[in-house]
Amino acid sequence: MSVIPLSQPDITEHEVRAVVDALRSGRLSMGPRLARFEEMVAGRCERRHGVAVSCGTAGLHLVLRALDIGPGDEVVTTTFSFIASANCIMYVGAKPVLVDIDPRSLNVDPHKVEAAITNRTKAIIAVEVFGSTTHMDRLAQIAGAREIPLIEDCCEALGGRHRGRPAGSFGRTGVFGFYPNKQITTGEGGMIVTDDDQLADACRIMRNQGRVDLPEADNDQSSNLQAGWLNHTCLGYNYRLSELACALGIAQMERLDELLEARRRVAMAYMQRLMDCQDLILPNVDPACAPDELSWFAFVVRLTDQYTHVERDRIITGMRRHEIGAANYFPCIHLQSFYQEQFGFRSGDLPVAESVSQRTIALPFYNQMDDMAVELVVQTLKLMLQRENLLKRDS
Ligand SMILES: *Cc1c(COP(=O)(O)O)cnc(C)c1O
Repeated sequence: MSVIPLSQPDITEHEVRAVVDALRSGRLSMGPRLARFEEMVAGRCERRHGVAVSCGTAGLHLVLRALDIGPGDEVVTTTFSFIASANCIMYVGAKPVLVDIDPRSLNVDPHKVEAAITNRTKAIIAVEVFGSTTHMDRLAQIAGAREIPLIEDCCEALGGRHRGRPAGSFGRTGVFGFYPNKQITTGEGGMIVTDDDQLADACRIMRNQGRVDLPEADNDQSSNLQAGWLNHTCLGYNYRLSELACALGIAQMERLDELLEARRRVAMAYMQRLMDCQDLILPNVDPACAPDELSWFAFVVRLTDQYTHVERDRIITGMRRHEIGAANYFPCIHLQSFYQEQFGFRSGDLPVAESVSQRTIALPFYNQMDDMAVELVVQTLKLMLQRENLLKRDS
């Protein structure tokens, strides 16, 4: 492990006690903590329903199933994201239509989304990249005008807002993820949020093997076997989230404002120290967002255009050699080998995203980072940049 890792969860005694209490309760799945956790997340993004699932990817899969998207259908989404936001489209046999991004926000370009819509388009999946809520209002308008559902992949944006509207409230439905590098974690986990009663019901049934959602304990008492635990009304999955995970999620949600504030503090510490660096493009802060509306998932800087991806990769490797976490968030999805094989994508197809993704560097970003750690990362990054400039000059 690096001296300064790329990310690290923020777990205190509060979380430890919550999980131990859940263990001692004797109820380890489908209990009261599930409902509580769902209420908390849905409430935070001002939606009627929350459906907790085993991970964000499972949540995306379920909403596409619930919207009856399948073979012959197209779903428009961004190429600049974590792979899950496109893979879920492949799970249901539909075609991902990958489009280019806006180079400032790094979110999908709304004009290019509009241009990609055909009469086969059954949904738009909009990703809030690195927590940015930019363009979500516009994308909701576009989807609304075409009467197709907007699915918000808000896995990286819990707690963020845009002109007062919370992440997770823009689409017909939104999906959060709770992997350990996200704003809150349940170890593994995710949550679907929506105001749509039918969509929430369909997701609840499918996460639980296609059975109508009976809590396990009630099942023992039920005399109606037709409606019982072994009655399956559709093809479902086991995408349930355990009570242990929900207990952890509740404890993290109770601290959400504190967690977001800690992330903002680290982001601002980086901003201040990197502002004067001519070789870097810093993360765009949407002027439409008040400072306390920002929810930072990662801190990703971009090298200016005179750097190549070879130089970027060498900088990341150099930082890792100094035991400082760094990563190339994100390689373009359309250039992943199996997307190229399946759909014939080539480099050059989506030039903005390609240019961006060749030059991004995700820096260590976690709540416990103090000024000394930020300073060490910044000094090491600047050292690596100087090294590249020397190499360039001498070649
Ligand atoms: C984290 C993440 C997901 C979901 O990931 P899981 O590991 O399945 O929880 C989906 N989309 C994006 C953009 C993500 O960052």
